[in-house]
Amino acid sequence: MSSLFDSAKFVMSVADIEGLPDSELPEIAFAGRSNAGKSTSINCICRQSRLAFSSKTPGRTQLLNFFELSVKGEKPRERIPKGYLVDLPGYGFAKAAPETRKTWENLVGGYVVGREQLKGIVIVMDARRPFMPADEFLLDFLLPREDLAIHFLLNKSDQLKTTEKRASMEMARKRAAELGGNITYQLFSGLKKEGIQELQDVLTGWLGLPKGS
Ligand code: GDP
Repeated sequence: MSSLFDSAKFVMSVADIEGLPDSELPEIAFAGRSNAGKSTSINCICRQSRLAFSSKTPGRTQLLNFFELSVKGEKPRERIPKGYLVDLPGYGFAKAAPETRKTWENLVGGYVVGREQLKGIVIVMDARRPFMPADEFLLDFLLPREDLAIHFLLNKSDQLKTTEKRASMEMARKRAAELGGNITYQLFSGLKKEGIQELQDVLTGWLGLPKGS
């Protein structure tokens, strides 16, 4: 095991902003509507089938889960931590109670707005229907963070025909242009394991590491 993403290891769950780790390591967050395939995407790029768990009931897992990413050191078995991958609670509140919404806003909103260590956020969306109101709700939170990189992951691309893929990419291109800033986007399939290298390259770039780390 030597690659950055293969090294992902669960370190902690955080239920409130005060509990965030006291660390200067850069952080990369994964967000997405429940069922968009966020857990599948994380497990897929880290090549571990049970790293991130999906939350079938919205609001059940209102926690930030931190996974440490490390590279090989000089000494035998030495690992050097390089950053955290942070799995944010899923959103999409059709079934959620108002207090669940409030908890999400305080925790996730507070984290994405205030966390200096957060360098970039991957927004996992179903490529067949990206930019749903709940995604836009998250994007609103990100507006004050002009420094933050955003990557639209158009997941489940295996469900799309070529013309639909093109249309989905075009929607992402338009939305990125409207929002401005450092926004990238790609098609992805966690199921077919397509687009992994492209996503890994974006993330290693955010961490300031060379491609292929
Ligand atoms: P989460 O709630 O965002 O963490 O979503 P999950 O990772 O649990 O995935 C939700 C559902 O979508 C599951 O049934 C997955 O098998 C399915 N899924 C995830 N990724 C893909 C994909 O790339 N293609 C297809 N067709 N289904 C996917």
